[in-house]
Amino acid sequence: MSTLALCGGPKVRTTPYVTHAVIGEEERRRVAEVLDSGMLSGFIGRAGASFLGGNQVREFEQLVKEYFRCAHVVASNSATSNLHMAVAACGIGPGDEVIVTPYTMSATATAIVMQNAVPVFVDIDAMTGALDPHKIAAAITPRTKAILVVHLFGYPADMDPIMAIARARNLYVIEDCAQAPGAHYKGQLVGTIGDIGIFSLNQHKTITSGEGGFAITNDAQLAFKMQLIRNHGEVVINDMPHEDIINVVGYNYRMTELEAAVSIGQFRRLDERNAHRQALAVYLADRLKSIPEIILPQPEPERSHVYFVFPMRWREEVAGFSRDLFVKALVAEGIPAGAGYVRPIYWEPMYQQRVAHGKSGCPFACPLYQGKTDYARGLCPVVERLHLKELFLTAICRHPHTKADIDDMVEAVQKILENRRELKNMQAQS
Ligand SMILES: *Cc1c(COP(=O)(O)O)cnc(C)c1O
Repeated sequence: MSTLALCGGPKVRTTPYVTHAVIGEEERRRVAEVLDSGMLSGFIGRAGASFLGGNQVREFEQLVKEYFRCAHVVASNSATSNLHMAVAACGIGPGDEVIVTPYTMSATATAIVMQNAVPVFVDIDAMTGALDPHKIAAAITPRTKAILVVHLFGYPADMDPIMAIARARNLYVIEDCAQAPGAHYKGQLVGTIGDIGIFSLNQHKTITSGEGGFAITNDAQLAFKMQLIRNHGEVVINDMPHEDIINVVGYNYRMTELEAAVSIGQFRRLDERNAHRQALAVYLADRLKSIPEIILPQPEPERSHVYFVFPMRWREEVAGFSRDLFVKALVAEGIPAGAGYVRPIYWEPMYQQRVAHGKSGCPFACPLYQGKTDYARGLCPVVERLHLKELFLTAICRHPHTKADIDDMVEAVQKILENRRELKNMQAQS
């Protein structure tokens, strides 16, 4: 039995894993074309041909439209911008509430606060990591305007019951698909089920242009609003056909030609990249399946997991030592892994202290807000348990890794479990 790297022994793996996207020929060629043209952005903030951006941006949006078979695509400089424009386009503002998961990248919930609306956090389902549909109804109030769903880690949330609640209560559904581009729920691509789907192209996502994002929708009104919000809507609207100017406060959320040029080449590889992730994830799951200490992802037959990360749950009661110690030992062996994901969002100071805009506590204490927020510890027990005790992740199931790279992780896990006595002692003494 070899000594744990944590205790000074040799590491299972000494070569680093790849953590960045591979940029192909098409991206290089297109970027060179854009540079040669001298037009690095095609947007102008006024009505007319340049209101919708340059050639690369439009070509990218067309490509996305065909892939999702949707009517409208609005590309931007980040998914955060797209989330904000989606919330605003739905007419959401002061006094309103939006139901959202507490286990997501903070921007998902911040997009609600940006509009001076109030996030209402509903607990997650431990198996999917996404909003638990059974807990949504109890959180709906007369102020609720939308449900913001996140397909966490690449796995689709349970959309049927969520859509049923939303349609019965006349609520918008915004899907944050930043981690799940190309994932399917019962034959439908995620992002096409609710009213608006949001995707990210940031450095760490499955396909990337460094920074960037896009929104998809079949609703022409929502698309038009998002285009206005992307590009200085308040100046443009006079010269445009419009019905209402609610929330047509414009920003500069425009995507450059360079980002679009890279996004086009990247987007064409989306399915291939997902298939690569899936093949490695299935292999990893198979190799770990007889380890009782670890609960593996169990995708249902009609939902595809695109494994933005490979999420697992640790069973301390079986192992006899904690997840945190296990992950520490795994990282010491040269395997990148994380204990938990982000903190439950309502633990952030903005929610704990109820301070966002200005000094008077808006939107939480806004005079226009008739509700009462609850961001107490213990609000969402499932998420808190996963975060503190159970969930751990690795991102090694990705291009250009191979099964041999996955084998190193399995070997490290086995080595750690062979040394469990030592880890139990370590925990007892700490
Ligand atoms: C990455 C991410 C975002 C934000 O994406 P950006 O493009 O960086 O703004 C939003 N939501 C989720 C779930 C994410 O993973």
